[in-house]
Amino acid sequence: MSLLKIRYYPDAVLKAKAKKITIFDSSVRKLAQDMLDTMYENDGVGLAAPQVGVSKRLMVIDVSGEEETPRPIVFINPEIIERDGEMTGQEGCLSFPDVFFEVKRASKVVVKFQNLKGQTLKLTADGNLLSRAIQHEIDHLDGELFIDRAVSQLKADLEMTKAGFREGDVAELERELELEKEAHTISLTQTANQPVAL
Ligand code: ZN
Repeated sequence: MSLLKIRYYPDAVLKAKAKKITIFDSSVRKLAQDMLDTMYENDGVGLAAPQVGVSKRLMVIDVSGEEETPRPIVFINPEIIERDGEMTGQEGCLSFPDVFFEVKRASKVVVKFQNLKGQTLKLTADGNLLSRAIQHEIDHLDGELFIDRAVSQLKADLEMTKAGFREGDVAELERELELEKEAHTISLTQTANQPVAL
């Protein structure tokens, strides 16, 4: 077992678009195994190669719970070919320790990918953690980060500041967030009270 060093924000490798894998040899198998070991060691459910400094289109996911038998899935060159619906939920990222906030994602995704033998497979995930993890990890392969998909940018800024990833006044951000919540409540109330034509 070898553990890899996780790259943290703002490491440049996290913003790069990763390259397609064309040769399915033992080095790819070793990378996948090392990434799984690293993911389990850090209590993650997903890890993309750029997060360990390798700019290649490979990611690993295991959403089985602690008590269950591990069910690792290795995705090579994954591509979402269908998406449907919407879901909002808390997300974290191994490249941003201690940062969690709500992110909106498609509910259902159909993903086409290759396995370690280079065979093409298709997988459907709907309304669950697997669906969320697939979308989060594919974003990593495109150099996209979850901080840019926050439901509330202010909340993301607050969590990033608290965790020390950016400079800022935590108290000030908390006040602004309260105002944002109030404004949201008011606008929801107004919408609910508006007469509707059916
Ligand atoms: Zn991540």
